[in-house]
Amino acid sequence: MSAPRKVVILGSGPAGLTAALYAARAKLNPLVFEGTQPGGQLMITTDVENYPGFPDGVLGPEIMELFRKQAQRFGAETRFKTVTKVDLSSKPFKVWNDDELTEAEALIISTGASARLIGLESESKLLGHGVSACATCDGFFYQDKEVVVVGGGDSAMEEASFLTKFASKVTIVHRRDEFRASKIMQQRIFDNPKVDVRWNAVIEEMLGDPQNSGLTGVLLKDTQTGETEEFRCDGVFIAIGHTPNTELFVDQLKMDERGYIVTQGKSTRTSVLGVFACGDVQDAVYRQAVTAAGSGCAAAIDAERFLENQV
Ligand code: NAP
Repeated sequence: MSAPRKVVILGSGPAGLTAALYAARAKLNPLVFEGTQPGGQLMITTDVENYPGFPDGVLGPEIMELFRKQAQRFGAETRFKTVTKVDLSSKPFKVWNDDELTEAEALIISTGASARLIGLESESKLLGHGVSACATCDGFFYQDKEVVVVGGGDSAMEEASFLTKFASKVTIVHRRDEFRASKIMQQRIFDNPKVDVRWNAVIEEMLGDPQNSGLTGVLLKDTQTGETEEFRCDGVFIAIGHTPNTELFVDQLKMDERGYIVTQGKSTRTSVLGVFACGDVQDAVYRQAVTAAGSGCAAAIDAERFLENQV
């Protein structure tokens, strides 16, 4: 087997690829396992308007290609592979892509987070048949159709705005009577004549037959009166937040009650010396591309210092 790599990075969103850039420039010859969604969540976003340095905005997939190229320019090796198992109990750390083992002196975890679903059986049955968690992927199919967006955060606002490019009407269903989204994104929604909001409402059931017509509507429940009604629509987009991708590290790294990896103080150090975490996998608060990139830089610097102290 080949010698252990100095630094192995799991995940290739803004955090992972920034860690790769910094580790490559520090001559640590990093290897990046890109994971199940190469480029991370920005790959399913259209316009990114809040990444500094792009005054006219930039497309999500475009900026991630730039991140990758910049890391590769300094020698980062990126593989379109997913790590399926890790062993952090002894050094060098072991990571497997199926049967293929790679050893690492330092490990940077940037596996990100995935979209959450409501958890209804009818929702999973109709996923891909009218139910989606990605407007940028599926919005195009709803030309002149009526759709529902679930959620009250920035993602819901963004998805709803985007969907008005195709749909004739977008109804946001939110479980409370106010949004948590940023004011500027809320205002954009309130100003958009194609968007309606159903406050204090939750979806009790998704209606329709996946084998036939697909989704035909939802059963809406008013959270204040308890009344239910059938609401006709052609598509439902779920935008209710994310779950950190940390299954691989259960019982190996300290996590909080929601499954986010716990890092120490302002550092990216985890509960295992030599393992660092950055980006959305350890950040339930900011979750921005720019904060993820910043923590990726910190993880590479933390890893570099750790490796220096090992010799
Ligand atoms: P979020 O801020 O956590 O919002 C999730 C929303 O879904 C909340 O309104 C929540 O309701 C609702 N919700 C949660 N579970 C639900 C359930 N089971 N049923 C119905 N509704 C449910 O998540 P997010 O919108 O994905 O945003 C995550 C982070 O990314 C935020 O920091 C956000 O600022 C950032 N972001 C930024 C941009 C941007 O700046 N362009 C775009 C997208 C996301 P409650 O409000 O009642 O809790």
